[in-house]
Amino acid sequence: MRVVMKFGGTSVGSAERLAGVAEIVRAQVKRGNQVIVVLSAMSGVTNTLLAALKESANGNIAKLLQTRDELLKKHLDVINALVRDETARQNLTTTTTDALDRFEDLCSSIYVLGEITPRATDAVGSLGERLLVPIATQAFNDAGLRAQWVAANELIMTDDNFVAASPFMDETRVQARAKLLPILENGSVAVTTGFIGATKKGILTTLGRGGSDYTATIIGAALDADEVQIWTDVNGVMTTDPRIVPEALTLSEISYGEAAELSYFGAKVIHPKTILPVAEKNTPIRILNSFEPTHPGTLIVRDPKSNGSTIRGITAIRNVALVTVEGRGMQGVPGIAARTFSAVAREKINVLMISQSSSEQNICLLVELASAPRAVQVLQAEFRGEMAAQNIEHVWVQDQIAIIAVVGSAMKKTPGVAARVFGALANDNINIIAIAQGSSEYNLSLVVNESEADNAVRAIHRSIVKK
Ligand code: ADP
Ligand code: ASP
Ligand code: MG
Repeated sequence: MRVVMKFGGTSVGSAERLAGVAEIVRAQVKRGNQVIVVLSAMSGVTNTLLAALKESANGNIAKLLQTRDELLKKHLDVINALVRDETARQNLTTTTTDALDRFEDLCSSIYVLGEITPRATDAVGSLGERLLVPIATQAFNDAGLRAQWVAANELIMTDDNFVAASPFMDETRVQARAKLLPILENGSVAVTTGFIGATKKGILTTLGRGGSDYTATIIGAALDADEVQIWTDVNGVMTTDPRIVPEALTLSEISYGEAAELSYFGAKVIHPKTILPVAEKNTPIRILNSFEPTHPGTLIVRDPKSNGSTIRGITAIRNVALVTVEGRGMQGVPGIAARTFSAVAREKINVLMISQSSSEQNICLLVELASAPRAVQVLQAEFRGEMAAQNIEHVWVQDQIAIIAVVGSAMKKTPGVAARVFGALANDNINIIAIAQGSSEYNLSLVVNESEADNAVRAIHRSIVKK
């Protein structure tokens, strides 16, 4: 079998955790499997790098120097704890120091320029993975595994949509096979960086925050892997975020569609694009816990076994805003909805959810918080005439809200789910600002005040998830 194993930030967060990863990988190798390991940056490192970049642009150079020292220490600690070979230790110490010197140079130029480009964000943001992979590979070798690393910018070719790049799968397939198959055929474990790609010209890109999960399935598809394993810090995909609801349950099997919907609506456990490369090939994905490696976790497949529950999970998305187009004169006027959506689509604003009241006096769009001011601007321009005639009275934004989504494919066959959800919220006095049900009926989404989001998730979970 050929298996891709991706380990997230907390799974590689310290020397001790990395030693645990080596054991998990060894167990796969012992079964006679070919193994490709995809590693994230150590936990917190990507955030720290991007924060230092931002501070540099704001003129705070002290923060940059502090970050450089902090990251150097963090990685040298791992080298000193896990790398026994003296020459390897010296080499890694030098390459790590050099990489952080380049980080300092890059941030210093941002400090001078006072402006951050998406390209610079990727050059800096990808450093955590690039620092860790050579160290981890040497640690694996010192633990008795044969391992060799390749940086993913040599494997994954992407477009130049920096900060959220998409792979070109045909080119990636050629590159990844050429670089990785010889390592596997040689009986070694191949190790690579998550999160990273490069344009055709070789400029570094990233796949978006949390993108190492996506790296794993891109590589899995390119190498025709038999399975992709995502090792994280919880027992698989759960009925909701266990940080909000500690009694959340593991979903033992879910479909690609359900996994996509749960992640799209905020279940951070996998990146929303993770299933794209493998769903068509029907490659199974397992979500597993590196802190509890014997737990079976979640299997994501095309046709999951039913567990008798209509609801798969409850999620919350924050940092969104509700944009409302409102006016008594809108009633019965055809084309307002179409013009609303075309106007925001032209601006490439992503609409997460829509809802229209039955009285037709308003249309609401849920958009990411950062794009809300632009959405209002384009809608005011689009409806200038209607606003002058007072057929449309306002276009306005409500922020500090959250979308709560209740996801499950069996919902479409089961009446009464909505009633139970609304009942649960009413019982806890939580006000619902807007409601929408997607045509897929995979999910029921509603909008509440952000301050009530956690309570809404808890109330719905309590009332509809069966033990
Ligand atoms: P990694 O560093 O391994 O990529 P992440 O922090 O990105 O891990 O994702 C794992 C986290 O996702 C968990 O610690 C958990 O708090 C959160 N999470 C949110 N929703 C869910 C869910 N439905 N099931 C499991 N975990 C979830
Ligand atoms: N290190 C990257 C991030 O924090 C990618 C990942 O962890 O998946 O976003
Ligand atoms: Mg993640």
